[in-house]
Amino acid sequence: MFRTRNLACFLSTTIVAFLIIPLAPAEKFTFRPYLDPDKTLNASLETIDGQDISINGVDTAAPSEPFTFDWGDGATSNAWFPAQHTYQNTNKNYTVRVTAHYSGGATDFVEVFVRFKPVNWSFVADPTVPDRFDIPSTPITPVSTLPGYLPPDGTQIFAVSDIGASERSAVEYAMSVAHWIQLRYVHENVTSEAAGAHAMLKQTTFPGSLSFWYTQPPTFTAHPDYLAGEIYFSSLFHEAGHIMTLNCPASFRMGGKIDGNMNAIFSEGLAGVFQHATAYEILNTKGRFGLPEDVLSMIKFDAIKTVVVARQSYARVFNGDSVVTTYNDPNTVDDETFNTFLTVVYVFVDLAETQGNFRKPLQRTMELFETFNQSDATKYQQPDNESFRSTYWVAALSYGFKTDLRDRFRDLGFPVKNKIYRELKSRVK
Ligand SMILES: [Zn+2]
Repeated sequence: MFRTRNLACFLSTTIVAFLIIPLAPAEKFTFRPYLDPDKTLNASLETIDGQDISINGVDTAAPSEPFTFDWGDGATSNAWFPAQHTYQNTNKNYTVRVTAHYSGGATDFVEVFVRFKPVNWSFVADPTVPDRFDIPSTPITPVSTLPGYLPPDGTQIFAVSDIGASERSAVEYAMSVAHWIQLRYVHENVTSEAAGAHAMLKQTTFPGSLSFWYTQPPTFTAHPDYLAGEIYFSSLFHEAGHIMTLNCPASFRMGGKIDGNMNAIFSEGLAGVFQHATAYEILNTKGRFGLPEDVLSMIKFDAIKTVVVARQSYARVFNGDSVVTTYNDPNTVDDETFNTFLTVVYVFVDLAETQGNFRKPLQRTMELFETFNQSDATKYQQPDNESFRSTYWVAALSYGFKTDLRDRFRDLGFPVKNKIYRELKSRVK
């Protein structure tokens, strides 16, 4: 990655007026419009073909009148899904707003991003952000730092045909920013490997991503779809969050998804919290780390997409359609904790939005998790010890947000025990 600090300084002393005028203040990003658990509308871009696009979606509330489509080019129309539109000007990108109308005058909306223009990947690196992310273009062999844990076979590098040079350096830079942000969430209380550079490799055996948090360098894999077209930044922040949290605290790593010291809802719950906090912080930091608008819009739309998934799980738990469970049975393929850990993610985002801050409550939450020790792990590993695992989350979040969340989580069905709660809270004053 190259640095352009000197160039930027030179420009700012000579053509100040030109630099200042076009810089509109970045609007504040908030997840709030996407957090209402009663929301039922969802839509996404189905096809894009020349000037023509099609948007498909679903609204489980089945409104009786058609949706309103504001196509972003001055045109609006009313239609059911799927809806088509033809753009005259394909030299720009559009944000389509789809509005649903319900009886009594209530409305809901979602936004769909339509990209026609090639992506502009050029960024102005913040010189205070260290290079801590690598998408290797020549093969690497991550080495295990944990006996018995081996990275799976079949990983590859992302070739130039998968990701071009300017895209590669922009993604590396965006992920270095994420690394820098996430390292502060854990008070840098991670193994030296996790504090150093992370790497991303390619795998095509399944459509997701996988973290080898226990290797040097710490690595995760992603399916090529993650980097084709709109980049799945929220998911990449999630995987980076796994590396940070599973290697924390440095003296007693929390460990893997189903077999670590603190498995199940902590692994996925924390990664889910980290991914949304990271997106929120990038989008709301002054200057936005010099990332190009195209990357910022990818971060925004992907984080909205993933927060909606968390909201849907929360709604299932909230409505009693899913029962709280905190033990991910290693003998089954399913993750029994899916709706439960996403409920925790949702509650975190909801509370952080209310406070208008993600970083401080997350740092405090991690402060309590960093007291995790062998005695905790023993209790934690008993499959039927739902109350210990549940209360750990509730105590950490209550401390994080400086508010007693026991009732809120009890209402959702978490078996919170006062004695455990008090003991955990007493560790962090
Ligand atoms: Zn995960």
